[in-house]
Amino acid sequence: MIKLTDININNLSLWIQQAKTQARRGKVIQRIPLLSQANSDHFAVAISFCSGDNLSLGDDSCRFPLMSVVKPFSFLYLLEFFSQEELLKWVGIQPSLMPFNSLEQLIADDGYPRNPMINSGAITIADKLPGKDASDRTQLFCQWLNKLTGSKLYLDMEMLASVRSSRSQINVAIAQYLYSQGNLQNTDLAIDTYEQICCISGTVEDLAKLGQVLACNHDYINYQNMQLVNSIMLSCGLYEISSKYAEEVGLPMKSGVSGTLITIVPNQGAIACYSPALDTFGNSVFGLEFIEILSNNFTLDKS
Ligand code: GLN
Repeated sequence: MIKLTDININNLSLWIQQAKTQARRGKVIQRIPLLSQANSDHFAVAISFCSGDNLSLGDDSCRFPLMSVVKPFSFLYLLEFFSQEELLKWVGIQPSLMPFNSLEQLIADDGYPRNPMINSGAITIADKLPGKDASDRTQLFCQWLNKLTGSKLYLDMEMLASVRSSRSQINVAIAQYLYSQGNLQNTDLAIDTYEQICCISGTVEDLAKLGQVLACNHDYINYQNMQLVNSIMLSCGLYEISSKYAEEVGLPMKSGVSGTLITIVPNQGAIACYSPALDTFGNSVFGLEFIEILSNNFTLDKS
């Protein structure tokens, strides 16, 4: 058994080859026109170690929107402005066994989103972000992310236009229900902000650096906030199949419908995967397969 820090290009490329063979099972998302054009033969992995070293392999020049991988970070960002108690009045920390955009779950819970990793929770968080309008909010948030990571994440305007052109009516219904229950201040602003932050884009290396923020101790992030985000990712990050992976892999993970997946290995580093073919729950097939192979080969030091 090896630790994350012992991983080198050779074993990484072997595991990528193994994981690739499974990706044929997945399907690229069709709902967002520009994302539907993504090449399902693209596979990339990056690791950002707590030492500051980085490693990446495969189609690592691909650029993609974060989509739901942004959710742990918008929650972490808001924790910079409000206490945990205040935030937990708006959104819970319980897993859901329903899809990430379930209105049914929200209605069953009387408009209190189960957790910030599903759309109802993330739309609620988007409503509370600081900034005068959605663009201002996205810009401030993106600047914060880039300051933390030294990355060049940016808002992909073409992707945003595509998301807007095929606006998810389920997300709109979720926002309207949240508003009717007094949990949103402004439905349009919340949806606009949510769509914009989902279109913050970068490479797999940028994604690994984002994960590193949650994996390693830093002076600039409150440790309790980091712990809270990691524990919510562990139980809720992969939607309906979160508990399966919490048992099998035991690491905080978060997926997005662009085919992104980040995995946090506390005190060691973060692994980012990219491959657009998804399973029926909206998780990257390659990404999950890769992490399973990896977790069978390295020591899960969660101390
Ligand atoms: N913007 C996407 C949506 O709300 C993000 C969902 C996801 O990545 N799971 O449908």
